[in-house]
Order: sequence, then structure tokens, then C-alpha cells
Amino acid sequence: MSLDLDKRQRAMLREMGVRLWQPPAPAADQVAPESAINRIAVGAHAERAEARSEAESAPARHAPAAPAPLPSARAVPAPAAARPAPGLQPRPAGVDRMDWPALQAAVAGCRACVLCESRQNTVFGIGPAAAEGAAPQVDWLIVGEAPGENEDLAGEPFVGQAGKLLDNMLLAMGLQRGSDPSVPRAGLSTSVFITNVLKCRPPANRNPDPAEVAQCEPYLKRQVELLQPKMILALGKFAAQSLLQDSVPEVQKIPLGKLRGQVHSYLGVPVVVSYHPAYLLRSQGDKAKAWDDLCLAQAQLKR
Ligand code: URA
Repeated sequence: MSLDLDKRQRAMLREMGVRLWQPPAPAADQVAPESAINRIAVGAHAERAEARSEAESAPARHAPAAPAPLPSARAVPAPAAARPAPGLQPRPAGVDRMDWPALQAAVAGCRACVLCESRQNTVFGIGPAAAEGAAPQVDWLIVGEAPGENEDLAGEPFVGQAGKLLDNMLLAMGLQRGSDPSVPRAGLSTSVFITNVLKCRPPANRNPDPAEVAQCEPYLKRQVELLQPKMILALGKFAAQSLLQDSVPEVQKIPLGKLRGQVHSYLGVPVVVSYHPAYLLRSQGDKAKAWDDLCLAQAQLKR
């Protein structure tokens, strides 16, 4: 990271909670205020959803593994895994041709995997208001992992502590989530849509199951097709793996850190991978790298 920073870049660093070494300030009133992000981090452990989530290897956020079944001579064949649980239904047909309202309705009514049994709300995503029947027009698409408890209750992505950090990351880039257009902040753009790989909360904030990711994947794909963003920021390993599975061989085996620092592509849209905000809440040292990722994405978008 270059230390030859202009005023705006320094402001971005401050929003991200990244501190640069500086010669001692001549006067107390010139000391930079403590960053909002560092203040947020203090309360990070209070929130279950954020405590679980990680970007790089994430063993801490996994639900404890069930003990392996003991071998038994009288073992009965397990019921077929493919057998749908009562109450499940196939995903609606034609997701790949749906318009925005139809897609929203399909997600809202989806009963294609077990997550529908425990969710309070589906979480489609949040962005600026759009013309009737059309998708919002945005430059940026932010893709996280899955709703946590707060998001499940609110029906909106990233509303917990990780969401506050995400909002500060957006702020650092001159962006504001479009949830409340009645309070636009001067100089900020709402040209960003925020969503997740999974539209329903995994119970007890466990990791998304591959079958659940597969069921939800067509919804994210259609969101990208309709939004046509200029840049996708994939936050955390589930977003990266989901978006890059067709373009990066054996992406599941590549650590997130190695997917960073380059511009990938999904459906022709540039993709930059970065750490999940919940991981950054626990790993302050990697905020500087996340800042680098935002700079890379911004530079790519301006090209
Ligand atoms: N973590 C995510 O990945 N998404 C959310 O919406 C909230 C927390």
C-alpha cells in the first residue's frame, strides 16, 4: 500500500479504522478523532451473528460438528437425503427470466430448502428506489454470506455490527445504502445494492450448507443480470466461492487471501474479493488489506 496518500485516501483510511504512523502532532487539537469503526469493534462480541462469521478459514463460526454415528451391524439405511422435507417445494420455474418484482416475490415465497422452516423473513437485499417493475440502477453490488439473527428479523441485510462496519466502508467510498432516501447525506451516492448468497438465515448462524447455496444461487445470478452493476464486491469466502466457482478452478480450496488483490469476473461483471466485515471486527489488522481491496475496486470501476 502506498503511503503517498491524498486527503481523500487518508479520510478513507480513517473511516476504515486504519491508522498510519505519523510524526507526533504539534497540538492536541490536531489529533484525528477515533474512528467510528474502532468504536464499533468494541461491542462486536455482543452480537452472535457477527461473532460467527468469517472470511478466511472460519472454524470458529461453525456449529459444533455432530458426532460421527457409531457403526452398527443393525444399521438401517439412512433415509434418502434427497427426499424433500414436508413443506418444501421446488424453486419456482423460470427464475432466469423473471423481472425484478417477480424475482422478489419468488424469493419471498421460496420453500426450496429447509431454511424456509426457521426463517422469520427472507432477505432479498437493499438498494435505492427503482422505477416500477425495474431493478434499481446501481454501480456497486455488495454480496455477503447470509442473514444473521438481526437481518432475519429486519428483512434487511447487514443491519448488525458487521453492517455498521460495512456502512462505514461504503461511506469511505462515498456510498450510502439506499434504505432511507429521505435522509440522503451530502455528497454520498446510493448507487449500491447489498445482498447475500443466501436469502434466508441458517439456524443458529451456522455455515451455509452447499445444498442451500445451490438452491439460492439462481436468485443471486438473476439479481446480477437485472442489476447489471459495474462492480461486485464479494465479502467473505462464501460470496467469493459462489461467484467464482465457474471461473476459478478449485476455488473452494483457495484461501480467501489468495483471491484478493485481483479483478475476477462474474457474468462479465468485475469482481473484487475482500474480507467479510464480521471477520474484520475480530481481525483489526486486516482492515488495511480491506482498504486496499476497496481502492482496487474503486480504481477498476473508474477505468
Ligand atoms: N453477515 C452477512 O454475510 N450478511 C448479513 O446480511 C449479515 C451478516
